[in-house]
Amino acid sequence: MTNLSQDPKAISGDFDGRFGDFGGRYIPESLNHAVVELERTFNEAWADPEFMATYLSILNSYGGRPSPVTKCNNLSRSLGIELYLKREDLNHTGSHKINNVIGQALLTKRMGKTRIIAETGAGQHGVATATAAALLGLKCTVYMGELDTERQALNVFRMKLLGSEVVAVTSGSRTLKDAINEAMREWVACVEDTHYCIGSVMGPHPYPYMVRQFQKIIGEEARPQINALIGNDPDFVIACVGGGSNAAGTFHAFVESRSALIGVEPAGGAAVGRGVPGVIHGMRSQFLQDEFGQLQEAHSVSAGLDYPGVGPEHSYLSAIGRAQYESVNDEEVLSAFQLLARSEGIIPALEPAHGLAYIVREAGKAIPFGSSVLLTMSGRGDKDAETVAHMLGYFQ
Ligand SMILES: *Cc1c(COP(=O)(O)O)cnc(C)c1O
Repeated sequence: MTNLSQDPKAISGDFDGRFGDFGGRYIPESLNHAVVELERTFNEAWADPEFMATYLSILNSYGGRPSPVTKCNNLSRSLGIELYLKREDLNHTGSHKINNVIGQALLTKRMGKTRIIAETGAGQHGVATATAAALLGLKCTVYMGELDTERQALNVFRMKLLGSEVVAVTSGSRTLKDAINEAMREWVACVEDTHYCIGSVMGPHPYPYMVRQFQKIIGEEARPQINALIGNDPDFVIACVGGGSNAAGTFHAFVESRSALIGVEPAGGAAVGRGVPGVIHGMRSQFLQDEFGQLQEAHSVSAGLDYPGVGPEHSYLSAIGRAQYESVNDEEVLSAFQLLARSEGIIPALEPAHGLAYIVREAGKAIPFGSSVLLTMSGRGDKDAETVAHMLGYFQ
């Protein structure tokens, strides 16, 4: 069973949520109480061995942790590098998201609240939240842009099967950013009995920090696992970046190591690469904005990376030069998706296929031959098989 290191900052409760110039807590007065209560509850829970034991035992016995690190022998040979995958795709519900929602559902109960709400784009965070709510006996409402409810009808049905209500948001572009706005509005109205379960390392403090803490199990497992395999930290640690939670959870254990850290964004949603600083969704970070400072839409083959901003910790890691952020285009992602399936028998989600696409493109260039590379396989590709089949013209 994995043990998570306790962070002295959390135990003393003196982390103010600022990652350098980024992060913070930019919220309406009406949410202040709820956010402060959440921060206090999280800090107390994180220092409470009983909470930790419950959290970890659910992740183990229900979530399927610890997830293995797998060496890709065939791909390593053809790329001329040593490629290892941290297998979050093997978790219950098919991605790393379960690590976060179990934690937040337990906090909901600890605060004496009975209902959980969430926003979702592709539907993956909605399904994960609905799963945790079913397991722990909480009521659950998921806000989803109307356009996304049409594009992701099967995930809407999954959430309903799991006992959740799904609300189609008809404002704005009817996608993820509008769902976030709506969930925040709804939270103001029902904050007494309701917790807002944010799906990535974004939003006002304590969310970016708290979600990172719930996701750091990825890196804390992976570091000893890869050390046992290669006797060292890898030369490169790579993860895809949407809001940035699987990357933040992976990077945390390696920040003080010798490994180079690389986050890979979709070219059409490169918030670190092409965004500018701003204050949106409760935090100061990097966002894709128009000339008036309004949030622009991100575009990617992978709906899970469609968030036009990024968590503040990534803006910070980029600003201080500790992590580097690169982007890949949809075409590169589609071919990496197929390559991993063919060469290793692993169908990746389109999101981590971004990480692989970067590795394939840069092997022998930015990633010298012979390098050891750890890639977080944040999720499995079953959910994307139909999308890819359409893109390849298979159904025509
Ligand atoms: C949601 C999701 C992501 C993107 O979210 P992050 O917060 O950036 O990790 C990446 N991979 C998979 C499989 C996802 O479901």
